Amino acid sequence: MTTATLPASCYAHPASPATVECGRCYRPICSTCAFESPAGSFCADCMLAGPTVDQRRGALMLGIASVACFGIIFFAFAFGFLAPSAGIVPRSAITPMWTALSLLGFGLTLTGVATGLVGREKGKHSGALLATIGLVANGLLLLLLLLFAVMGSRMKN
Ligand SMILES: [Zn+2]
Ligand SMILES: [Zn+2]
Repeated sequence: MTTATLPASCYAHPASPATVECGRCYRPICSTCAFESPAGSFCADCMLAGPTVDQRRGALMLGIASVACFGIIFFAFAFGFLAPSAGIVPRSAITPMWTALSLLGFGLTLTGVATGLVGREKGKHSGALLATIGLVANGLLLLLLLLFAVMGSRMKN
């Protein structure tokens, strides 16, 4: 968002230049009217009204889904590391198990990144903290998996 696309003046104070637009109703507001919050800048009306129930619920559900993806793959990988030494998985099954876990990891982290992104988009009026956490956690995990995949293919050569 650039200030160039904003109308010249605040909706409440025609004499004051708008510095930002409200993150909920998108009306142009001046610096006196803007309430700063972790979720963005809001006009006085929207700061009092808060995000709509639908926006909050949608962002929350997607945030939960995103964090759940990370949680599942975290526990799956923890199992993958611990199971062989605990004798739960026979030696011959370790390689196919890791192939399956890696595929699961890519699938779930991609899903986690996607739900996190959509959740953030939905919740941009309401913060969507959980979706942001899910997005970052899955994004980092996806990068880590890609790194391992690249290192693994280098080692074979
Ligand atoms: Zn507003
Ligand atoms: Zn104003």
